[in-house]
Amino acid sequence: MTDAPDVGELSPPQRTLMGPGPSPVHPRVLKAMSTPLVGHLDPSFVDIMDETQELLRYAFRTDNEWTIPVSGTGSAAMEAAIGNLTEPGDTFLAPTNGYFGDRMAEMARRAGGEVVRVDAPWGEPLDPADVADAFAEHQPDVFGFVHAETSTGAKQTNVPELTDIAHEHDALVIADTVTSLGGVELRVDEWGIDAAYSGPQKCLSCPPGASPLTLNDDAMDKVLSREEDPRSWYLDLSLLEGYWGDERAYHHTAPVSNVYALREALRLVAEEGIEARWERHERVAGALKAGVEAMGLGLNPEDDYWLPSLNAVRVPAGVEDGDVIDYVLDHYDLEIASGLGALEGDVFRIGCMGHGARPENVTLVVAALADAFDALGADVDAAAGLAATREALREQ
Ligand SMILES: *Cc1c(COP(=O)(O)O)cnc(C)c1O
Repeated sequence: MTDAPDVGELSPPQRTLMGPGPSPVHPRVLKAMSTPLVGHLDPSFVDIMDETQELLRYAFRTDNEWTIPVSGTGSAAMEAAIGNLTEPGDTFLAPTNGYFGDRMAEMARRAGGEVVRVDAPWGEPLDPADVADAFAEHQPDVFGFVHAETSTGAKQTNVPELTDIAHEHDALVIADTVTSLGGVELRVDEWGIDAAYSGPQKCLSCPPGASPLTLNDDAMDKVLSREEDPRSWYLDLSLLEGYWGDERAYHHTAPVSNVYALREALRLVAEEGIEARWERHERVAGALKAGVEAMGLGLNPEDDYWLPSLNAVRVPAGVEDGDVIDYVLDHYDLEIASGLGALEGDVFRIGCMGHGARPENVTLVVAALADAFDALGADVDAAAGLAATREALREQ
């Protein structure tokens, strides 16, 4: 037997989190998490559940009754949506334009789906004409797309056109809104999205652990009329209905503190107003974009599909991305991330999400990058970048 390990008190560094998530958590959310637990079937918790659902509907812009936090990270909500809406033998159409589209395809395959793909280059949205062609060729039962591709910094535009195409073919549409919910314009009902999932630790600025999911009646009808049970017991929405629906019966123990946190994070969204929040992300991230562009660095996606919540900034000549990332972490306690998949080594991924989308944070990012590029010998105009960010923020 070993002796009791001599482990010191927890004291994580104070980082400024400007990567692809988690984003900085608002102090009110941290405080909510440290309030006393009640049982997950306590009458007071039932009220908290109702309020959380109501706040989630507001953030998603939906009236869907079936709107819940799934226990787990964004991938759990993702697997709940895909695994419940894909029956063995269903054809599932997934995009190829980013890392998370690939994850959708993989989850659909594991659910027993026949996966077919619609192509677009990394960093570009799907073209509705290509989606229409894919529907004509494959007649998919389910179509998944990524609204905000965190791996490329590209936003899917023309969402209502995509959902129209799917509905003309009687298919259901699943949207990955992990990096858009609470940060980028998203209108689930108006845009005809049948199911959308998200994560708490991106634009909602909440710790990971309870992840938003919403399904309309068409989607829920399919879930409840499946011939075969979904492969996951834990994420079976027909069973979860027993807990989140009227019955309030035990299925699994809800992550009580995470639900508190999500409720408080969503209260902050409601206080600010969802549209004002979308506008703030665009404005503050716009100052970051102006700064890096004035330094001479391009953003990966074209302006038309620029995603304010995740900025994919090209790595300048003369430096390695990893050295810059290490430098800003060491000198500024600042977290930014490298590229994923096809963009590895080519871009930095700089988040501007939720409580992180503030002038002081983007000023820090631009100043820290300017210092890192200077110290490491990249050929950029650091002073012009700082001036452009300052000017963009002053105009606001
Ligand atoms: C982060 C992310 C996910 C997965 O969420 P986790 O919380 O990491 O499980 C899925 N899709 C997109 C677009 C994401 O950015």
